[in-house]
Amino acid sequence: MPSYQPTSRPADQPTSFVVTVDTEEEGLWNGEFRRTGYTVENTRGIERFQKLCDRYGVRPTYLVDAPVVQDERSVVLLREINDDGRCEIGAHLHPWCNPPFEEELNERNSYLCNLPKSLQRAKIEWLTQTIEELFGQRPTSFRAGRYGLDIRGARILAELGYLVDSSVIPFSDFRADGGPDFSDAPWWPYSVRDGSLTRPEETRRALREGSGERRAERGEPTRGESRGSRVEGQVPATSHHGSGGQRAESGEPEGAKRESISRTGTGPAVH
Ligand SMILES: [Zn+2]
Repeated sequence: MPSYQPTSRPADQPTSFVVTVDTEEEGLWNGEFRRTGYTVENTRGIERFQKLCDRYGVRPTYLVDAPVVQDERSVVLLREINDDGRCEIGAHLHPWCNPPFEEELNERNSYLCNLPKSLQRAKIEWLTQTIEELFGQRPTSFRAGRYGLDIRGARILAELGYLVDSSVIPFSDFRADGGPDFSDAPWWPYSVRDGSLTRPEETRRALREGSGERRAERGEPTRGESRGSRVEGQVPATSHHGSGGQRAESGEPEGAKRESISRTGTGPAVH
């Protein structure tokens, strides 16, 4: 459960529940990044998990990464579920094991957003085309491994036809590890505009309004008090790879052909 209490939520944003699964290899986070040699035994559990989803009428989104799409048994299993319309197949990108390989293997380069734009594009294109060839449908949902997306990656996604991204984890800052800072990101679906992946101005406005609502309820003055206040320190952060609670956004990357990227998802336990 998220440890924060949103102070305000735009009235036009309905509450939604989305199940997304990072469908990926074993052996992550042992301090080693490799190109190949991964196993994906855990995908055997999808059958059992899918039965649970079927029973409760949930259509999960399996965000599959390179080792999974390169494993025939996993693809056959997922294709059967997808062909029945019981799931959505999206894309999940771990740069270190997602062709093409041009970058050095290290912690910093494990974040897609730290790679040159041309390499970001090449990796996203490889995964997108591979999924399309295997499943007969172009993926439209995306999550970057380690949440490593930036505005350049978002624009590439939009240009390639993606509609939904779930890489942003509000209240989270991965800078100490070389990753992105999402401290100021809204916790509701939003559009990406004006060269920023997050929308800190929206978050600050919501916090101001939320604070105003609470003061108004108490009969206290509401004007001007928290105008311009910073988000930091007002909202507890979630853990590094922990549940992000409701995470959703939509975007309209600048100059992109497709006008909107929307994003919605729930926090994965492991990423
Ligand atoms: Zn992952």
